[in-house]
Order: sequence, then structure tokens, then C-alpha cells
Amino acid sequence: MKSKGYAALTAKAKLTPYVFERRELRPNDVALDTQYAGICHSDIHQAREEWGPAIFPMVPGHEIAGVVTAVGSAVKKFKVGDRIGIGVFVDSCKKCEACLAGLGNYCYENMTATYNSLERDGKTPAMGGYSNNHVVDADYAVKIPTNLDMAGVAPLMCAGITLYSPLKHWGAAKGKKVGIIGLGGLGHMGVKFSAALGANTTVFSHSPHKEADALAMGAHHFISTKDPSSLKGMKPEFDLILNTVSAEIDLNPYLELLKLNGTLVMIGLSGKQYPISAGPLLQKRRSLSGSQIGGVPELQEMLDFCGSHNIVSDIELIKADYINEAYERTIASDVKYRFVIDAATF
Ligand code: NAP
Ligand code: ZN
Ligand code: ZN
Repeated sequence: MKSKGYAALTAKAKLTPYVFERRELRPNDVALDTQYAGICHSDIHQAREEWGPAIFPMVPGHEIAGVVTAVGSAVKKFKVGDRIGIGVFVDSCKKCEACLAGLGNYCYENMTATYNSLERDGKTPAMGGYSNNHVVDADYAVKIPTNLDMAGVAPLMCAGITLYSPLKHWGAAKGKKVGIIGLGGLGHMGVKFSAALGANTTVFSHSPHKEADALAMGAHHFISTKDPSSLKGMKPEFDLILNTVSAEIDLNPYLELLKLNGTLVMIGLSGKQYPISAGPLLQKRRSLSGSQIGGVPELQEMLDFCGSHNIVSDIELIKADYINEAYERTIASDVKYRFVIDAATF
């Protein structure tokens, strides 16, 4: 199947129009017309090789919302016309402890990422979501609730699940205090979910002008970190702090804000090292952890949660020829709060 999209041909090149082939349907595959594709900061990190050697040509994109156009002979889960989403991974071993627990995102034989990855045959490069269509194993696609706007849903497939999963895992709920560092694509979804789960929610942002938006999304407090001394004097009262920042920041002042047994979770992946002092970890038995997207069952749970709470991403809808500007603006923290490409413009 011919696919029209945008690709990075090298780590130094701007993204350009690119035509390529998608595989013929296998028995468990579905084909879809992509309607919308979100731009995640991970797309930028990978297209620019900030996480190490990458596979080119690269069609980025792992926030995909579209409509099923064909199903393979063994597919029972979907039918033509269904609205479905594809996220950050499109395959895994299906037999390890993590996969059997519905956590293919933590597969011991590594997930096959939606792009910048090889399929299970070890040689076919996976091509991502910046394109007008897709073919995917039905086990890695999820149903989109009918009441939600498709463009606002696309970012849920990465930004949404990546914040929903740790909030649920570490028990964000009424009576808990949650901090979200960075009000970008991921962070703004974290604020919406944390508030919807009933947690008292604080945003730490280096962009003071985002305060009104943060509060409108459900945050209870906004701390401007433009002046690093702004954290001084704050009490150690957070149960959970999620770091969604795409650049390296000093984590040590945030460890000090955790209460007894509190946890700081790494979500942002700058590709750089983060020096950590052991002292604050010891002093209140605090934990430092990490979290990577979420499994397919939880992806469906998150979408259903969004359906019942009317939650979607705040987006700026763009045409495909704006992708390179959108990358620069994302790096400058200048997006409200996710760029989404209209796939009709590929
Ligand atoms: P994004 O939209 O660019 O948001 C990142 C936010 O971080 C910015 O909006 C900004 O928030 C803050 N920030 C950026 N540069 C900063 C700096 N120099 N100092 C302090 N704060 C800064 O990016 P995203 O798409 O949300 O992704 C965020 C990170 O998570 C990326 O590294 C991405 O690769 C990673 N990620 C991880 C997973 C996972 O599974 N763990 C999944 C997806 C993405 P303020 O303006 O509010 O300060
Ligand atoms: Zn992503
Ligand atoms: Zn596995």
C-alpha cells in the first residue's frame, strides 16, 4: 500500500515529503486512513539523533488517530469504519512476563516502536504516523470513544497514556499531592488527569505566562521556576512528582519537596545525565523512578476514562508543510499544548 508522508532523511535534514510502501494486510492486521498525527517531543529527539544512532529515512509520529479501511481475515476486534488509535509501539514478543501482564511497553525482548525501530523480523524498518495511512497488528490498536474530537484524541496515544499510567500506578487520588514539572504536551495531559483523579495538583513551569492555562486545566497551584530560588522554602509535602521536561534540569530541589515515602518519576528523556544527591533520597525514604508510556489494556482504559470525563488534548492544528516550524516552536516551549498534523495535507 502506497503511503504519503513526511520523513527525515538524515539527522541534520529538515523533514520533507516522502512516499513509501506499507505492508500488505496480514491476517491479524488492520489498515486505516490516518486523520490526525500528533507531534511528540520524542519525534524531535529521535529525528535529530539526540538518543543515539537512529534509522533513516525516518517517518516519525506515534500519536495516530484514524478510521479503519480494511481488516485482515482473523481480526475480530475492529470493523471497517471504526475510529482507532495507534500509539508508541506496534509489536512486542507477546510471551515474556511483561507482555503477558499487558505491559508490552516493558517487553523483555523490547517493544517494536512505531518508528525508528525494526519489526520482529529484525530487518524491516517501522514507519511512523506522519502519513496518510497505516497498517498495524490489531492487538496494538485501540478504540476511540465516539464523543471525543479526533484531532484532540491523537496526542492521547502518547502524551495521554504516558501521564495517565504513572498517575494510576502511584495512586494519584483525592487526598494526595501531585506535582507536574513542565507544562508541555505531556505535562498538560498530566494536569488534566491528576485533577480528574481528585489529586491536589501543582504545576512547576519555567514559563510564567502559562499560569492561567494551568489553572484552567485543573491545576490548584502554579509555581514559576524561572527564578530557581522559587522552590526554596516550600514544604516537603508531595506524594508524587512527575518530571516531563524535555531538557536536563536539576532534580535535587524537587527531591526535597517529596514527603516521607514520596516518589519522583522520570518521564522526560533529554538523552543527558542527571546528577542526583543521595542525601534527599535517604532522609525521607524517597524514591526516584521512571515510567514509559503504558500497555495496550491501559491505553484503552485511558481512552475510556477520557470519553467519560470529556478529556482531550489542547491542540494547534497544522498542515504537513509546517512540521519543521512546529519542531522549532516545540523546542522553544511555544505550543498550546500539542501540534497535531491534519493528515489530509500529506
Ligand atoms: P514538550 O511539549 O516540548 O514539553 C516539554 C516542557 O518542558 C516544555 O513545555 C517546558 O514546560 C519544559 N521545558 C522545556 N525546556 C525546558 C528547559 N530548558 N528548562 C525547564 N523546562 C523546560 O515535550 P513533550 O512532548 O511533553 O515531551 C517531554 C519529554 O518527555 C521529552 O523528553 C519526551 O521525549 C519525553 N517522553 C517520554 C515518554 C515516556 O514514555 N516516558 C513518552 C513521551 C515523551 P514549561 O514551559 O511549562 O516550563
Ligand atoms: Zn511520544
Ligand atoms: Zn515481551
